Amino acid sequence: MTAAAVASSGGLGFSAPSEGPGIGDSTEREILLKAVTELELRPVSAVRTLAEPATAIRARAEELGETEIAQRARLLVMSARLREGKIVESGREAHQVLAWAQQHGRSYLVARAHQELSMFYRLVGDLASAHTHGMECVSNLPDDAPPNILARHLLRMAVAVDENGHHAEGDRRFQEALELATAVGDGELIAHILNNMAYTEYERENEERALQLVQRMRDIEAKSSFSFSAGQLDTIARIEMMAGDYDRATRTLQAVLDPASAVAGNEGDAYATCLLTLALALRLGGRYAEAQEALNGCLKQSDERSLRRIRAMAREEQAALYSAIGEFEKAYEEHREFHAEMNALHSLDREARAHALQAVYDAEEARRVGEHFREMAHRDALTGLYNRRYVNERMPALLGEVAFDGTPLSLALIDLDHFKRVNDTLSHNTGDTVLQHLGQLLNEAASGREIVARMGGEEFVLIFPGMDTAEAERRCERLRRRIAEYAWPAITGTLPVTASIGITTVFDGELSPSAVLSRADRNLYAAKHRGRNRVVAD
Ligand code: GH3
Ligand code: MG
Ligand code: MG
Repeated sequence: MTAAAVASSGGLGFSAPSEGPGIGDSTEREILLKAVTELELRPVSAVRTLAEPATAIRARAEELGETEIAQRARLLVMSARLREGKIVESGREAHQVLAWAQQHGRSYLVARAHQELSMFYRLVGDLASAHTHGMECVSNLPDDAPPNILARHLLRMAVAVDENGHHAEGDRRFQEALELATAVGDGELIAHILNNMAYTEYERENEERALQLVQRMRDIEAKSSFSFSAGQLDTIARIEMMAGDYDRATRTLQAVLDPASAVAGNEGDAYATCLLTLALALRLGGRYAEAQEALNGCLKQSDERSLRRIRAMAREEQAALYSAIGEFEKAYEEHREFHAEMNALHSLDREARAHALQAVYDAEEARRVGEHFREMAHRDALTGLYNRRYVNERMPALLGEVAFDGTPLSLALIDLDHFKRVNDTLSHNTGDTVLQHLGQLLNEAASGREIVARMGGEEFVLIFPGMDTAEAERRCERLRRRIAEYAWPAITGTLPVTASIGITTVFDGELSPSAVLSRADRNLYAAKHRGRNRVVAD
């Protein structure tokens, strides 16, 4: 099945499947569509489970020529890779998916790509771009996208606008996302949104609001079947510490440590981060020995998983812990180590960011070059005017407009008179020069939405959308005179250069493009027959 057929069958997999043309194809297409949609709707905490199934879907969709499904799957793989820290490739992938979706007018995919790009730019520290993509990810989402998808896009936008200092707008978007998630009863998504809101309040040092949000998170968890992720427990504990409740924070984080707990704590750096926060809570609560134990656990995790940032932060916590127990010399030593590691990390970060942004820039550049070539395919090499292929592609839409809003369209075919003489008595090169100058004259004759193209040889076309016969005749008569009076002697000596023009006008959408062209050609033939260098209309 072609991409066009996929587009015309319309479904994105959210509602009841539509019937495709071939039963066999349609069945497998529906299966793939369902599978990719299921992955897109998976809880945010399960993002790391996406890569494998999405890779398989992408491969099969590509085999079947189901490009949009393949691109949706590709974006899911990218999303998982981004969270694994493969930032450079992820940014490039997402930009490529965005370019494809924009070229093919797939707005759902455009929105999804913007959503991932907003996340990408946030991670590389380009908050302004994160902001732009965050807004685009909401504005491009089609109206029939399911509420939980819309909620996630609103959440992405909320985080991005808030981080750019637009707090009221951020709050409004958070609220909208929350209402949608509540309306569909998606407990895990509600907790995810509340967690982002709570963290935002924590960063704004708004203790009371943050605590209220934590309470709402707890209420939701009690009512639902999911349990908090390690990242969510970390947010909650930090907010509880804000209020000075170190014991409570300690209890909150111990859920992560409990081997029997269902906490999805084993993701990336989440477990090590929780251990670090736990060490902090225990130290502030005066439980130094336990704090040291938690910190040792954190260091072990950081080493096992090469978590350099957490490792550096753990050194800082170690320094504070030594201080607390009066080991000032060791504290000083750790503090220095912390600074050295942090500095090394910062320059690594800067490099990684520059690298990531460069990769994205390269992808953009590749897209622009691609567009340039596509544009070239529509151009005539000698004159730079549009070519016959372009006219063939545009005509159906232009004639469709005539049918739709009842405005006329005029089309003129222009053919040089006795052009063979120029080639024969002067040279083919001189003939080419004449064609190039004529191209310029035609270009000057067209304005606004009017189209001028070289159909081949010394035959050209001028298309006047919305123009009736009388006006087209006036315009072509002016053009004919301008050609005849041009400074040709400098190029062709005593050989004159003139053109004959045949015009036709359509008033309804019933003629095919080729029928319109042949009507104009008949009038052109009549102009030649009546002695050339003249305009003939219907
Ligand atoms: P008419 O007034 O009846 O149109 O006479 P004509 O000589 O223009 O006749 P015709 O259309 O049959 O010939 C067109 C000539 O244009 C034939 C070919 O040598 C020349 N031609 C076509 N393409 C090019 C081109 O790209 N460059 C040059 N120099 N000549 C071309
Ligand atoms: Mg000719
Ligand atoms: Mg000709």
